[in-house]
Amino acid sequence: MSRTIIVSNRLPTKVLRTEESLTFQPSEGGLATGLGSIYREKGNVWVGWPGLFVEDPAEEQHITEQLQQDSMAPVFLTEAEIRDFYEGFSNSTLWPTFHYFSQYATYEQAHWEAYVAVNEKFCQAVLALAGPDDTIWVHDYQLLLLPEMLRRARPECTIGFFLHIPFPSYEMIRVLPWRAELLQGMLGADLIGFHTFGYMRHFLSAVSQLLGYSSQNGQIETPSRTVLVDAFPMGIDYQRYETTAASAEAKRHEAEYREALREVRVILSIDRLDYTKGIAQRLRAFEVLLQRYPEWREQVSLIMLVVPSRDQVAQYAALKEEIDELVGRINSQYRTITWNPIHYFYRSFPLEELSSLYRLAEVALVTPMRDGMNLVAKEFIASKADQRGVLILSERAGAARELSDAIIINPTDTNQLAEAMHEALVMPEEEQVQRMAALQSLVRQYNVFAWTKLFMDRLQYSKIKQLTLA
Ligand code: UDP
Repeated sequence: MSRTIIVSNRLPTKVLRTEESLTFQPSEGGLATGLGSIYREKGNVWVGWPGLFVEDPAEEQHITEQLQQDSMAPVFLTEAEIRDFYEGFSNSTLWPTFHYFSQYATYEQAHWEAYVAVNEKFCQAVLALAGPDDTIWVHDYQLLLLPEMLRRARPECTIGFFLHIPFPSYEMIRVLPWRAELLQGMLGADLIGFHTFGYMRHFLSAVSQLLGYSSQNGQIETPSRTVLVDAFPMGIDYQRYETTAASAEAKRHEAEYREALREVRVILSIDRLDYTKGIAQRLRAFEVLLQRYPEWREQVSLIMLVVPSRDQVAQYAALKEEIDELVGRINSQYRTITWNPIHYFYRSFPLEELSSLYRLAEVALVTPMRDGMNLVAKEFIASKADQRGVLILSERAGAARELSDAIIINPTDTNQLAEAMHEALVMPEEEQVQRMAALQSLVRQYNVFAWTKLFMDRLQYSKIKQLTLA
């Protein structure tokens, strides 16, 4: 029987070490939800890192056995690998380059070597499980070399690859010393998926300019095989957000918040701490709104959630300081005894509380400088049962390609952003409902389950095509 193997840097369960024991915390992320029905099927498995450093072989054994019961196979990373492969090449070379922040990118040969070695380690872990005609679906920028490594060892396997971050213009890619190897690595797949056609076009152009392989209608002719490339915008579990937002608990939280805020209207922003998210620019735009439209003072508050992330990397720590400073400055200048311009939280929240904030907010401010997709935008839409509320969305989020009924802005244009907030706050209810209804029908239809199915169906098709061409 042919099996499906999912491979990603992180497993859908996070193993945490508390003082005397290990806890296994299932992830509620979009990918885990979308692929849950696949990897839990009999015989299938998800290969990935459990998210912590393990020294003791007995502990490794224990974790392996526990995860195995839920169809997962862990790949353990050493401390040096976590530093050089994960924090180094993945998050300090590829992440900034692919998000157009090459001024933050480092180019360390040792990090590259660790990246190759860890991709090889993942390859060995998959090969230990994969039969000759299994289907392997590899995810994201930490594993760009894996499709080609797997192809060499298992030429007959069906291999899919999906990139969850943007694929940037050729001009960014060409800066990387290891650009050709990275592209070749991806081309080991039968099907390569991106969130948008824009990312796909960038990839085709890079492959043509750096490797000389031409393409037609999303098919790349390499010397040995044909590789299909396509866009699959990822969705969310719509029903889950819709149901949670309608729950008694979400309504109770919302009522509590409403009582505390009295009549003040709410603009909401939710992100991981990341320089790609445009958090500081958004704060400056909110300041401009208060300066330019004094009538909104004491009438509107920004609720801003920032989830701690990658604080070991220097730029993230610097960004945290910048945000702290900006919030402090704006609040101290404008606040009154009874009103706070910005309610800033630096921690993560459970789904039920996020859901009540989505209910509460009239405006969601999703303004990344670059973002592969952005799921927060879609979650806000799914949570709006009464169809009131306005989404302000950056043109440089992958989601903007689909969500054209949002107010689409350029996140570097502070004036435009401040005006968009004003426009959202005065938008007639009828227009809000009209826009939100259109957004909802799109997000409902292209949910995460549809995304998984579209990709898997196309992957099977790509293999049939390979066989007929051979
Ligand atoms: N999120 C969360 N807890 C929080 C804030 C956010 O679980 O306190 C979730 C949010 O619901 C969303 C995800 O984190 O599903 C962020 O995904 P997105 O695509 O917006 O950005 P990413 O962090 O992947 O760059």
